[in-house]
Amino acid sequence: MAKRVVIVGGGIAGIYVLRSLLARKSDIDEEMDFTVLKREKSGWVSTCGLPFALRGWYEIERTEINKPQFFLDQGVDFRTETEVAKLNLDESSLVLKTGEELKYDYLVIATGRKQEVKETALEGVYTFNNEEDAEKIEATLNREEVENAYIRGRGIIGLQAAAAFSTRGLKTTVHGGPPSLLPSNLDPDMADMVKERMEKDGIRFILDKREITAIKGHEGRVKSVVIGGKEGEKEEIPADIVIIGKWMLPEVDLAWEAGVDIGESGGIVTDRAMHVKEGRGHITNVYAVGDCTEVVDAITHRPRLNQLASTAVTQATVIADNILSDISEQPGLYSPCEYCFGPTAADVGGVLIGSVGVTSEAASRAGIKTISGRATKLTKARYFPGATPLTLKLIFDAYTKKLIGAQMIGEFTVAERVNELGLAIRAGITAEEMRSMERCYDPSLALLVDVTIDAATAALGITPVY
Ligand SMILES: Cc1cc2nc3c(=O)[nH]c(=O)nc-3n(C[C@H](O)[C@H](O)[C@H](O)COP(=O)(O)OP(=O)(O)OC[C@H]3O[C@@H](n4cnc5c(N)ncnc54)[C@H](O)[C@@H]3O)c2cc1C
Repeated sequence: MAKRVVIVGGGIAGIYVLRSLLARKSDIDEEMDFTVLKREKSGWVSTCGLPFALRGWYEIERTEINKPQFFLDQGVDFRTETEVAKLNLDESSLVLKTGEELKYDYLVIATGRKQEVKETALEGVYTFNNEEDAEKIEATLNREEVENAYIRGRGIIGLQAAAAFSTRGLKTTVHGGPPSLLPSNLDPDMADMVKERMEKDGIRFILDKREITAIKGHEGRVKSVVIGGKEGEKEEIPADIVIIGKWMLPEVDLAWEAGVDIGESGGIVTDRAMHVKEGRGHITNVYAVGDCTEVVDAITHRPRLNQLASTAVTQATVIADNILSDISEQPGLYSPCEYCFGPTAADVGGVLIGSVGVTSEAASRAGIKTISGRATKLTKARYFPGATPLTLKLIFDAYTKKLIGAQMIGEFTVAERVNELGLAIRAGITAEEMRSMERCYDPSLALLVDVTIDAATAALGITPVY
């Protein structure tokens, strides 16, 4: 009989498990049936493309890469606007809100992040999590009277929303905790460069400990946000649109109620095969993937969240390998998940940010002493048209001198560098090796002495040749 794989969640994580299994089901002789259950009306949406739709680069609809019919046509039981109410792991079944019970041979929990704003019922206050949020935000931006925006959150999504609002002419305030932007990705010295660049575009930043104390409205629509409780600290910020983009908690209620272990970071705990954990053991036909899971950091070896599509996709590949291995009883198909290096690239209003490995602060929290070096250089020969500056910070373990983190800000080509430096971290490359490494050169494509060499040289306390 065909083995039934049920996937709870149709975000990037769930869809990637499905896509991997659909693509590879002919690799094994056994039959498989697939069911996907999700709340939204959509098929496969590229959430990561939504900020650019809000910036006006294309319509939101364009981010829906496949409609549900695409999967239905391949025989997948693809159910949209469907709520899962309960998981019965002992009986290998789950129950929908309608009361319908579904049996599974393999269950994949891909429930993502929590989705709602509970602070207020006022119109104009949103999270920015998915296409439905983006549609509401877009509709609000298109109202004539909308002039002021307030964003709570200093992470990438908050900054991308700020860039979109500012591009569309809104007076935009970003409010987050101290001391600096993007604390998961950048040290304060690097983050301040991003802040300065975005301030030039008219965005205001408030980075302090004040919390939202009131959200005020008129005729059901938001009009302002009050921050700070005490007299003298209070401030009322005009806001016709509010985005609550604080740290998004993993959506783990179903898993938790079913007895699955939730880790200290708030995400579902898995083993390296992505099986969920229950007490002392792992449940080998139940997997978790994506933003609802916690990862193990490759440098600190501590659990943490890394809510990125790139992480979800690597986990999904592992799950597909392991389901195929299990069904076909071919151990050779099995694969374990890598520890997380967290490579990240983001475009926030034309400022390109890249990071991989740990920040100095994360290293310090884990008791790792570091040395670091920073350099700013052009991306091509100085006389060449189109040369743009790139600032790179490299962080090394002070004892081994191995690279453990990299951060960069530029206008061009950060993604390739993030991936290159991720490999260097994984390979245990030292500062001395980076300094002496030969690099390619063509004045139209690269500098004679790359910024990587200068940052590694600076980390070793040697003056680079400029
Ligand atoms: C605006 C934005 C931009 C981003 N840009 C990038 C980027 O450039 N690069 C990058 O790597 N990452 C980016 N990310 C992060 C990335 O989008 C997420 O890591 C990824 O979407 C996570 O996918 P997921 O499937 O785990 O979770 P989600 O997308 O949250 O999906 C969860 C799914 O579970 C379903 N679900 C939950 N509970 C139930 C239930 N009880 N019953 C039925 N269904 C349920 C939901 O309906 C949903 O379909 C961005 C995120 C956002 C919001």
